[in-house]
Amino acid sequence: MTTSAHKRRSASLLCLAAGFVIAAAPASFAQQAPARPRGAAPAPAPWFGVPLPPARGGVPAVLVGPRGVRPAIVPPNEAKFHELEGAAIRADLETIVGFSKESRASHEIGNGQLWGRITGYPSSAKTIEWTAEQFRKAGIADVKIQPMTQDPQARLFLPTSWELKVLGDASYGPGTADVVLESAMPVGTDIPGGTLTAPMVLVGSSNPSFAPLIDVKGKIAVLVVVPQAHMVFDRGTVSPRTQDLMKRGAVAVLTVLRHPGNEYAKDLGGCGGPCFNVGGRDGFFLERVLDRAASAGATPVRAQLTMKSETKTNLRAENAVATIPGRSTEVIVLDAHADAWFDGAGDNGDGLSVLIALARHFAKPENKPDRTLVLIASAGHHTTGLNGPRSFVAANPDLVKRAVLVVNIEHVAQRNFGPGRSVATDGYRDFVADSGEAPITAGITNESPYLNDLFQQGVAKYGTNFVSEPSPMLSGETGGFTSMDVALITIMQAPPLYHTTGETLDVISTPGLERMARFLAFFVKQAGKAQVTAINPPGSSPRRSAEPDDR
Ligand SMILES: [Zn+2]
Repeated sequence: MTTSAHKRRSASLLCLAAGFVIAAAPASFAQQAPARPRGAAPAPAPWFGVPLPPARGGVPAVLVGPRGVRPAIVPPNEAKFHELEGAAIRADLETIVGFSKESRASHEIGNGQLWGRITGYPSSAKTIEWTAEQFRKAGIADVKIQPMTQDPQARLFLPTSWELKVLGDASYGPGTADVVLESAMPVGTDIPGGTLTAPMVLVGSSNPSFAPLIDVKGKIAVLVVVPQAHMVFDRGTVSPRTQDLMKRGAVAVLTVLRHPGNEYAKDLGGCGGPCFNVGGRDGFFLERVLDRAASAGATPVRAQLTMKSETKTNLRAENAVATIPGRSTEVIVLDAHADAWFDGAGDNGDGLSVLIALARHFAKPENKPDRTLVLIASAGHHTTGLNGPRSFVAANPDLVKRAVLVVNIEHVAQRNFGPGRSVATDGYRDFVADSGEAPITAGITNESPYLNDLFQQGVAKYGTNFVSEPSPMLSGETGGFTSMDVALITIMQAPPLYHTTGETLDVISTPGLERMARFLAFFVKQAGKAQVTAINPPGSSPRRSAEPDDR
């Protein structure tokens, strides 16, 4: 640890300790500025007096207080479905997140700064094999591990170690030392020579109406983005703006994401040069320091970026595919992707654990399904050139031919949270979990009224937080099933912590897991009995335009 990093860590620990005190105090107290005698100038302090941000991982992204989540609704005749209870599903979710934690602890990628359940690596293979074992233990006789290989031209680019250091200068206040912004996450290309030092310039949102007025030549442009939900929604805006900054001569782009907490965010890439995302509280520090330096007419603040990477080809992965024979040979496909960046408790540990619960439920002879169920623990879609659903379709023409419906269970039980009444020690607004789950969109490609009505019933019967508006949305995993000419359903939350290190077990709702599992068991039973023409009404035209691919 360098001296500056050491100083930084000590300061962070102090911040953290103070944070607990303030969090326990009334919100109005937490928001008051410390008293200072009238007319007195602020004492000179490092970094123009701007408090240092906390270490990444030193503070939770979201405050999860002692008030729990509203309980799941259990209809009287369903009390015996113990395999669908929240605690049982959560135990599986913990095992699934454990594969990510192992990836991190063992430094599966580079120095361990990046981790996950990564398709093409042992962390993903172990998750798939463990899931197959759960299917077998549930009593399912037909469980297959189906291999796949990476597309020949595809390349997986992975940063293996990196650092973003903001360089101190005595003119910024006595004692100003370099600060490492630990939430920085590379999302662009390699840095030529591995390191780069340049002054930074704040470009705000970089709207085309004023972006050309700011000289970014030879500088690191600092873009500010306020994500309204998961970063997929911002890809269409952010990528062109970062590319424009590079074209106008910027040497790198830092995208400050005003996310909860101070997390890594692996999304919004494609700037065409070196670019890094910066988490909420690091970004808050950076914006304020750049503003203060400009107001004071100080030497422009510089940053040093360093990075190493590796590029992988010819990777191999596998799906686990379990078939539960029904009374009919027609097939309903249930899919959940197993891969994830970071802990991935919400993307998609929750969906995978719900899939396992459904396997246990329908494997019981008394719950034999009407239509045959095919459950896929998919290698997913985060690794370029490997796609679980697409490989499933290619390897199982007979099942595909018999399918009447596909349901993708993806990000389904993350807690809802919002801006809190309090702020943290550095002044950044806290985010607080509430007593329910984040909104869940149910996308039905062919807009079947019958299927839509089942979701409506789900809200009334189980309290699932489906959004009020029906949608033909298709996203994430579902993209790999588009060659199938049947209703494709995507059940998906889109909260801001998606693809960040903030998606930990803390922010998953245990009653939410149960709500979703009970709803889906009901849904599968109803859809199992429905006429094919109700599921796929003649003349309905499934929309097939996916949202940008969920990588
Ligand atoms: Zn996902």
